[in-house]
Amino acid sequence: MTTLGRIRALTSGRSGRLVPLLLFVVLVGYPVVFPFAIYEQGVLLLAFLLALMAVSWNIVSGFAGYVSLGHSVFLGLGAYTGGLLAEHFQVNPLWFMPVGGLVAFVAATLVGMVVLRARGHAFVIITIALLLAMQVLVNNFSQVTHGSNGVNVPLPTWSSDYQNMPFYYMFLALLAATVGFAAWVRRTKFGTGLLAIREDEDKAAAIGVNTTRYKVLAYAASAVPIGVAGVVYAYFLSFLNPIGAFSLLTSVTIVLSALLGGRGTLWGPVLGGFVVTIVTEVANVYGGGTDSRLLVLGLALVLVVLFLPRGVLPAISARLARRRAAAQTVEYTDQAGVASARTPIVVSPRSAPAAQTPGRTAAPLLEIRGAARSFGGLRAVDGVDLTVEAGSITALIGPNGSGKTTLFNLVTGAMSLGSGEIWFDGTRIDQLPPWERAHLGLGRTFQITRLFKSMTVLENVVAPLPTAGWGLMAKDAVSGHEAERARELLDFVGLGRFGAQQAGSLSYGQQKLVELAQVLMLEPKMILLDEPAGGINPTLINRMVEIIRDLNRQGIAFLVVEHNIPLVLDLCDPVAVLSRGQVIAQGPPSIVRADPAVLEAYLGPEWLPADPVPGPVLKPADLSVKGG
Ligand code: ADP
Ligand code: MG
Repeated sequence: MTTLGRIRALTSGRSGRLVPLLLFVVLVGYPVVFPFAIYEQGVLLLAFLLALMAVSWNIVSGFAGYVSLGHSVFLGLGAYTGGLLAEHFQVNPLWFMPVGGLVAFVAATLVGMVVLRARGHAFVIITIALLLAMQVLVNNFSQVTHGSNGVNVPLPTWSSDYQNMPFYYMFLALLAATVGFAAWVRRTKFGTGLLAIREDEDKAAAIGVNTTRYKVLAYAASAVPIGVAGVVYAYFLSFLNPIGAFSLLTSVTIVLSALLGGRGTLWGPVLGGFVVTIVTEVANVYGGGTDSRLLVLGLALVLVVLFLPRGVLPAISARLARRRAAAQTVEYTDQAGVASARTPIVVSPRSAPAAQTPGRTAAPLLEIRGAARSFGGLRAVDGVDLTVEAGSITALIGPNGSGKTTLFNLVTGAMSLGSGEIWFDGTRIDQLPPWERAHLGLGRTFQITRLFKSMTVLENVVAPLPTAGWGLMAKDAVSGHEAERARELLDFVGLGRFGAQQAGSLSYGQQKLVELAQVLMLEPKMILLDEPAGGINPTLINRMVEIIRDLNRQGIAFLVVEHNIPLVLDLCDPVAVLSRGQVIAQGPPSIVRADPAVLEAYLGPEWLPADPVPGPVLKPADLSVKGG
């Protein structure tokens, strides 16, 4: 067997769990077999601690993609919590491990609720600021913390013969628990939501993921194991001072460990934590102290960023995947052949289609009143009034840049409304966050499809969350009723065979269909389709039309942006025309295509109906009916 083959055997399937298990057994046995390897035990327990912190960090910064550069603040918080309480009550600090975790949780939640509402770089800056602020605070609140004099934590009660062995086992147990916790998070809907946020936060919000809640909770969850470990760390050190406890260098080593091993993977941060601890220890011993350690760490960081941007484990598995792919024959995905494999489905929009209730006129499901939105001086949407009746397929057409996509963004909440009102199914929605609009039954697809490319097709389809429930977050990502429903929906769009494939490997048109199936998981009352037929082949266009008709018959309303005019005229009624951010015409297709303003602004003269009579086409037969 080649080396690579051996690695593959060890990292795939059941043996992927075997390697860590074996390693764990070896580490448990090590102090028993070598009870006098005191120094090695000391190094290893620091490796466990660093690995544990890197695994925790990975929950918010690897899974959700929000990088924290000050994560050691939770180690300091836990350590000071345990140390001060133990000193005050003169008891064993280990009693306060839960308190350490709680303090870290509360601190992360409070900070997260302030900064994680927003996107982008604010979070990174705040995490460092928090660390440095804690250093200063602890230094200055000396009545409580003894400032720079530090805290003397009660000494270990066990016989000094055992030295560090109890700490060794405590950190090893905490590491195992943290890996288990991270693995569980990754498996749940919460974990899938975090990956979705990392890949495309707007899209995640559009499919019902409460991104603020998820991010705050991820930050808090990533703080807890470190806070707990901090208490043990205080006991281990037996003396705390602000600079040492809230150390920026520790934060940097956490980040380096995760980046080196593979950010976003489960085992990468563990591997990285071990390697970084051992390398810095070697630098300490042979290089002469802190300076050389900084040099080695800095150099390592540069090398990782340059040559292993995704980390060691992802690099290995990518290599293995390439090998496997080369060895396999690739199944040719014949789109015409796939087209026949569609199976019908029953969708359940959350309200009965009002238009089909006898004796009732259609009710407006979506009502846009005076909507406006500017970008700088450009009025992209300029006072739009538009209604979509329940049960209708309404078209929104207009030249490029006329504001169609922007209007969609305003309706779904991806952009904030400048002025005006938007009502959906009797609720004013223009101030609601995107996920709440999704929970009301408003779904959308994107002009350029936005699937989560690192997930499989099936994972993509189960990702949407139709309600806001907390319990939902803890459920397995792909399981039970939802997984079954997702498979049905994939069959419905004719892509049942592709469930296990990476979403990014499908053709563009297939991705559009998957995105539609994804939206259907929300049990929407209405779907906004942004250019559903744009850039896809005629077979798939036909299928798309068939699917839209099918869903509409079952009560789902559509608002469709599309440039394929024959398709629009065939499928949609009514049609609204947007030009320079304003609705210039609205009505049945026959009227709109004859409107001079529409012809001038968008359609051009070739779309003038063959019948020269503009407006409602009244034939003698009609007149006689009216007359009679
Ligand atoms: P359509 O979908 O009808 O082609 P869009 O809604 O995408 O048009 O764009 C309408 C106008 O608003 C265009 O002039 C476009 O350049 C501008 N626009 C859209 N989004 C933004 C944005 N995020 N920032 C600045 N300008 C934008
Ligand atoms: Mg557009």
